[in-house]
Amino acid sequence: MLEKIKNFNLKDFLGLDIKNDKYSLVDDKVFGKVAKQKAPDKWVRSTCGYCGVGCGLYIGVKDGKPTYTKGDPAHPVNKGTLCPKGLSEHEMVQSPNRYTQPMIRKNGQLVQTSWEDAFKTTSDKFKDIQTKHGNRAVAVVSTGQLLTEEFYTLGKFVQLGLKTNNYDGNTTLCMSSAVMGYKQTFGSDGPVGCYEDFSYADTIMLIGANIADNHPILKLHIAKNKKITGKKPKIIVIDPRFSKTAKMADIFVPIKPRSDLALMNGLAYIILEQGWENEKFINERTTGFKEFRKHIMANYTPQEVAITTGIEVKDLYELARIYAKSPAAMSAWTMGVNQSSIGTDTVSAICNLALITGNLGRKGATALSITGQCNAMGTRETGFTSSIPGYRNYASSYDREEYATIVNVPVEDVPKQRGYSYPQIIDAIEAGEIKALWLVATNPLVSYPDQKKLRRALNKLELLVVQDAFKSETAFKADVVFSASTWSEKEGTYTNSERRCNRARKAVEPLGETKSDFDIVLEFSKYFEGVSERLFPNWTKPIDAFNEWKKVSAGRLCDYTGMTYELIEELGGVQWPCNTANPKGTARLYTQGMPCPTPDGKAKLLALDWLPMSEPQNSSFPLILNTGRTVEQWHTRTKTKTISILNDLAPEAWIEINPEDAKKLEVASGDRLDISSIRGRIKDIVVKESQNVREGNIFVPFHYNEQLINTITKAEFDPKSFEPNYKQCAVQLHSIKVPDGIKFVEEEIAGEIEHIVIKNEIVYNNKLSNPSKIPNT
Ligand code: SF4
Repeated sequence: MLEKIKNFNLKDFLGLDIKNDKYSLVDDKVFGKVAKQKAPDKWVRSTCGYCGVGCGLYIGVKDGKPTYTKGDPAHPVNKGTLCPKGLSEHEMVQSPNRYTQPMIRKNGQLVQTSWEDAFKTTSDKFKDIQTKHGNRAVAVVSTGQLLTEEFYTLGKFVQLGLKTNNYDGNTTLCMSSAVMGYKQTFGSDGPVGCYEDFSYADTIMLIGANIADNHPILKLHIAKNKKITGKKPKIIVIDPRFSKTAKMADIFVPIKPRSDLALMNGLAYIILEQGWENEKFINERTTGFKEFRKHIMANYTPQEVAITTGIEVKDLYELARIYAKSPAAMSAWTMGVNQSSIGTDTVSAICNLALITGNLGRKGATALSITGQCNAMGTRETGFTSSIPGYRNYASSYDREEYATIVNVPVEDVPKQRGYSYPQIIDAIEAGEIKALWLVATNPLVSYPDQKKLRRALNKLELLVVQDAFKSETAFKADVVFSASTWSEKEGTYTNSERRCNRARKAVEPLGETKSDFDIVLEFSKYFEGVSERLFPNWTKPIDAFNEWKKVSAGRLCDYTGMTYELIEELGGVQWPCNTANPKGTARLYTQGMPCPTPDGKAKLLALDWLPMSEPQNSSFPLILNTGRTVEQWHTRTKTKTISILNDLAPEAWIEINPEDAKKLEVASGDRLDISSIRGRIKDIVVKESQNVREGNIFVPFHYNEQLINTITKAEFDPKSFEPNYKQCAVQLHSIKVPDGIKFVEEEIAGEIEHIVIKNEIVYNNKLSNPSKIPNT
């Protein structure tokens, strides 16, 4: 009450306070007018810590706290612009959702503790578990949000210090299909193109990529295209949902959920049938064409692909023609492709199409995976379950010896085989094989599919350690919390989707007693006899990790040897490989003369098959659920839920539902529904009627713990990448008026199919009732 009286403002009470102080502006030397209350004492140049676009920005600092974020006008990625998350990023640093010191569970409660206690308790328990059950009984799952220096340090400690290869990242939930797809096609992970390609391509084919919500700044590069090329590019958006991105398309391709692999193969069929392939490129730069052609021509006729994808034959021909006839065609994809049980092969099918048309390694001609998190690339490069640092192969004794020599450890210490992937770690916990789990900046209690299974597994752990800057749902369940500092409080580098290594600088001191992830690992390693001296001799700053990482990357595809922090700052980021031959970095991989890291230097054309969904619509669950993101929120909202300008725009989850389905359920926008799958039920989600989703499909954003959509998603994974099939599972909706939900109607696929053959640009229409009678022209 006293406090209220003290803060009483008569003018405010009478409605006369026009907040002059709050809203008055002053001149700033760097950015012109800024709010007087927040006017920075200094600006620190850095990089956005949210998504993989990697925008350059300045952090405004006043009285030791971040008060502003402004786009860096000189940065080649964003040229001064930022999306809403980037613009408000400074607000998360002082968020009440931050931990300010380490925590430990005592008598069932998480209580504040000292770093000494947190490290000693954890290291004692790790040692005890490893002595009793072997080194692999401790597992680590990290993130895509640390700095590269931190990933390198963490990975080195886990694999060579704790000596467990059960080390994966939450990047497996979003990017591992791209990693494995690139590996099987080109011989190594590594996005082959760059953002500049958006500005040079004649055709841009976005597949399962809602960049308007998830990577908004990329649209700038498309917007530059007309100015550079003199004509507007043809934009094709392939998506089951008419997303915000689809609204900017010239051609929207509303494929049936998870049918993109069949579509790619079907387009390849038409290109080969019509003789539109680039024979010279195929002969000189690829292997496997004969088998590929045979497989495609035998299995992916346009008529069958039309049934699988829901796209009419004539449209398939038109798509294939536009793509193949473009002087430079670019395909780009994100989670709509990756988060699938056939994600790896879909990535390679996209690459197949690029390869048979010669769309690789030229301006505007590429197949680019767009990464999700700000430094998903950093974890991919510096090694985790899929490779030894520098994209080295566990199975190669040469690779293991080379790495061991560089870091001066016995070769026997380097794991000979990959450890468990993230889902395998969860399975191994459930099976009692893994006893301790150390999670770094990830929040599976919201993000992991099939929450019941996950919770069963976590309950079996003897020790759960969560290292995070934020009070995540998973941290509340931890036995120990290592309270980390976050973006703007630490320094190092992030690598974005186009392999551009950007500098992220420290602008303010860490909040409370938090420590950078680099310092946490370095100090924690001292609790393991001899480990710190052996692995981190004389290391004190992230640059020590960066310098060793440069040596480890030497001669590899992700070569950093030519980079320095100064060069990175000077150029606004440097794209690897950067070495003596390419002192300012490399915009594109596999240009003419740059071989692929395969034994013969050629890319592989792979014969791949589409598979039907394992959980199709059925009488109990007649709808297909698609999950995804919205521009206002980040992942599980640990960073964004306390930023009012973001959270107020999207404070809760919603169900996007076609008006026809809304009619069947007798609901309208604003009403509330329950949603169920065979795995559970979520109550009370608000309805948004929308033509953006086709009848029989629904969309729900995954960010929200309050309406935890991963309660009902399926724990089904790509067998090559272990990425979850988040995007499709069978569900039912329950309204008050129609509690039993929608009735299932079998889809009819019989009937006349239209076939169009394009030859010498002349279009013929054939009406055929039997696909086997279609002439092979
Ligand atoms: S597009 Fe991504 S990197 Fe750029 S400001 Fe937004 S969140 Fe940050």
